[in-house]
Amino acid sequence: MSFEQNIRRVVPYVPGEQPNRPGMIKLNTNECPYPPSPRVAEALKGLEAKQLRLYSDPTAGELVRALADRYGVEPEQVFVGVGSDDVLAMAFLTFFNSERPILFPDITYSFYDVWAELFRIPYRTCPLRDDFSLRMEDYMQPNGGIVIPNPNAPTGLLERVENLEQIIAANPDSVVIIDEAYVDFGGESVLPLVDKYENLLVVQTFSKSRAMAGARIGFAIGSRKLIGYLNDVKFSFNSYTMSRMSLAVGRAAVEDETYFREITAKIVETREKSKRQLAALGFSFPDSKANFIFATHGRVNAEQIFMALRERNIYVRYFKKPRIDNYLRITVGTPEQMEALMEALREILNGSTDQ
Ligand code: PMP
Repeated sequence: MSFEQNIRRVVPYVPGEQPNRPGMIKLNTNECPYPPSPRVAEALKGLEAKQLRLYSDPTAGELVRALADRYGVEPEQVFVGVGSDDVLAMAFLTFFNSERPILFPDITYSFYDVWAELFRIPYRTCPLRDDFSLRMEDYMQPNGGIVIPNPNAPTGLLERVENLEQIIAANPDSVVIIDEAYVDFGGESVLPLVDKYENLLVVQTFSKSRAMAGARIGFAIGSRKLIGYLNDVKFSFNSYTMSRMSLAVGRAAVEDETYFREITAKIVETREKSKRQLAALGFSFPDSKANFIFATHGRVNAEQIFMALRERNIYVRYFKKPRIDNYLRITVGTPEQMEALMEALREILNGSTDQ
């Protein structure tokens, strides 16, 4: 008998690489190419080292209130965590506690099956259509919960709110999590539905549209009931999830709505231009409403392009997985970064022979 017999063994999620090379163009982990609001820098300056002696507020009150004000809900309907990964993990642990399988798309955020395995939650993946759209009927079968990202990752496709509402309404006995990590880039949120459906949990993040991936702040909005249960689990796990730094910078970011609109609009504009340029180079892609484009080339293999871009110090994301192994997920950067990418792609495609 070995001590290893009783160890919880898991196959971990593999995050996108975080290289740090001089002059690199980093378009591989859907970060924002712009800095956070100037108010965030001010909030950081206002922090005093001596305050760190004390624990942070376990209820994350100031950040919760700022989010409640911004989204027009009660503070009791808001939960915050260490990035939306933490919020989602807590939500899986809290709400997916059935013998029945939870449901999510086969092509989606690759952390969902990792949490399901970690927490021993049975799950079933629902195959997307060839155009990567959801098959509604898949989510009408008995289940122990549902999680759907909207827009989906890595496809970038946005599902209509009416369709998601049908799924939420058809499953009153399950919690339905809509992961809106990318909704601020032109998508429509299901947030207005939280007062209508007690079983709906909406999860968002500061990592993309608020340019703060490094601060690790995510949040969920839902019914008082769901948020209450979520807090019970959180307080049974780690009460002080949010540091004094995250609380201060998070609140400062939420309060700068003008800046938020400015940078998200810039990214949307660059995305639309990049789509036209990629199409002209022979790429096709679902019509992304996120801050990335999921593109495949008609002639040249994605892995080959991925490697050639790396050699030129340009990083995009490539998933060697069934159905998507001929696609590149390209984060939308600044206009200058995207020009450099297009230039490199032009060279690579011209230089490549047919497969
Ligand atoms: N959901 C989706 C769909 C994502 O792509 C990501 C980013 N990896 C996350 C959640 C988590 O992001 P974060 O923990 O930085 O909020």
